Amino acid sequence: MDALVIGGGPAGVSAAITLRQAGREVLLLERSRFPRYHIGESLIPGAVQLLGELGLDAAVAAAGFVEKPGARFYDAADGMDVALTFRDAPSGTSFPMAWQVERDRFDALLLEGAAAQGVEVLCPAQVTAVRPGPDHVEVEAEVDGAPRTWRVPAVVDASGHKSLVARTFGLRTHIPKLKTHAFFGYAKGLSRAPGVDGGNVVIGFAPGGWLWGIPLNDDVTSVGVVLTEEAKAQEDLRDPRALLVKFAQAYLPYPEDIDAQLFGEVRAYGAINYCATRYALDRVVLAGDAAAFLDPVFSTGVYLSLQGGRDAGRAVAEGLARGDLSQAAFLGYERQLRLLHHVSLELIQMFYQGRFGNLLRAMDGRPHLIQEVVGLLAGDLLSERGMVSRALMKRANPDVPLTQA
Ligand SMILES: Cc1cc2nc3c(=O)[nH]c(=O)nc-3n(C[C@H](O)[C@H](O)[C@H](O)COP(=O)(O)OP(=O)(O)OC[C@H]3O[C@@H](n4cnc5c(N)ncnc54)[C@H](O)[C@@H]3O)c2cc1C
Repeated sequence: MDALVIGGGPAGVSAAITLRQAGREVLLLERSRFPRYHIGESLIPGAVQLLGELGLDAAVAAAGFVEKPGARFYDAADGMDVALTFRDAPSGTSFPMAWQVERDRFDALLLEGAAAQGVEVLCPAQVTAVRPGPDHVEVEAEVDGAPRTWRVPAVVDASGHKSLVARTFGLRTHIPKLKTHAFFGYAKGLSRAPGVDGGNVVIGFAPGGWLWGIPLNDDVTSVGVVLTEEAKAQEDLRDPRALLVKFAQAYLPYPEDIDAQLFGEVRAYGAINYCATRYALDRVVLAGDAAAFLDPVFSTGVYLSLQGGRDAGRAVAEGLARGDLSQAAFLGYERQLRLLHHVSLELIQMFYQGRFGNLLRAMDGRPHLIQEVVGLLAGDLLSERGMVSRALMKRANPDVPLTQA
């Protein structure tokens, strides 16, 4: 066994397949029995491209998920209603579409794809301890109620927001510039634009936050509101359903009575943003949400997890080949991921400070600006192709953790 991956979400699958592609023997441990519920349903074209590199695109394309041609931004305050399509991305940089996915089905497909490519998958298997040593990492897990231990050369921690390694080693911390809270549920029968545009994600602006409407299969729409700490403090939090209905009715462009259309549980996730101060230790690399999660406003979570997983897999494969799996050997991986996170954080702050909305309002008749913004929405975050990207990159310092951004 060359490497052990903790977690079978997008980051873990991506890391494990990348290691297999480098000819390595990989064991992946996932604590939940799949399929399991997960939030994070709107993909971007950058994720589709990575699915292709991982040999997973055909299975996802055949699964019948709703096609996502782009994003619609709506501001009830002044009636701004702008739809952007991925077809307008700078040519050759991006896929012209993505998908809106039910994550239980999507994640199960990815994990099956990893197993089909030779990754050994143990599920359910909950990792309970990770102990890096000078020449191996000891990993303890509970499998079918019984403890098991492995000694492996390297570990990728892709345990998602549980951030197993970051929590164990005291690396996990809040991001001072970003504290947001999410409330979300599912509605049936909300109206959609005719044709392929009905697959757009809808982003609604609200005072102190924003909302999403994600069209899924079976006439179901995922509906959520994300509020800043200050905005949340103004709200009565005893009834998350009432809070979601109030915001969705006021700030999403659906004519229907949301209260009547919502079904099932409304979930509340508090303080969703965090990061680890380091993204690697000796013989251990953190990928996806296990390293950091910023904010869902630009639907980049799955994309960053697939990319982080792929880059972590590559870094471990190179380390194995060179015989150097020290923390210092993973510095290149860490800097690249930090750069992506810093740029993402800048973009997210543009949104919360109202500057992204202003940019949308200023785009009319400026095709270059439209192209650039669409490129960013598609996941082309480090391009430096245009004015906005260059400004984002200028403020990003890959040598400092997000806590010092
Ligand atoms: C409110 C909200 C809305 C979001 N919306 C979007 C969106 O629209 N689009 C988007 O792209 N992203 C979105 N995201 C982000 C997205 O959900 C995540 O970024 C993405 O799922 C991270 O993938 P991952 O593989 O890193 O982690 P996960 O998908 O969480 O996978 C981690 C896996 O590790 C397993 N695990 C955990 N601990 C252990 C252990 N000890 N042993 C073994 N296994 C373990 C878990 O069971 C899980 O299956 C949203 C997030 C939030 C909070």
